[in-house]
Amino acid sequence: MTKKSLNHSSLLPDTLQEAISTLRDIEQNYINAINRLETENTALKDEHYKDKELKRLQEKINYLTENMHRGFPITEEEEEKINAWKDNHILEKHWKPKKYVTKQGPVDCTFSYQFFPTILDTTRIVKCSCGAEFSF
Ligand SMILES: [Zn+2]
Repeated sequence: MTKKSLNHSSLLPDTLQEAISTLRDIEQNYINAINRLETENTALKDEHYKDKELKRLQEKINYLTENMHRGFPITEEEEEKINAWKDNHILEKHWKPKKYVTKQGPVDCTFSYQFFPTILDTTRIVKCSCGAEFSF
């Protein structure tokens, strides 16, 4: 209802004014309901956003925690490949039963990790003390 139409309300019969008043009340109830629903909808979206954000942060924490346990950032898949290479290398090159093996394993085998930045990527190598290398 515009202000212009309100100026003429005194010219309308009482029953028509009552009907208009009732319609205004109904309209206002709908407007209030819409406003309340919009507020609730915003709150629900915020809660959903918070849940998604918490899940994303927890996944990142898990990823970083796993990297921290490995000592430097390598993926789980890379770690599996490296461990497989190490196991195979030890068995093929360093496993000499009784002569060199202690309770901890072969005595003449230690590994180091090397990272070389290149233009496109970082070359990453695990290197055995015997000189054998594995690029990952
Ligand atoms: Zn070796």
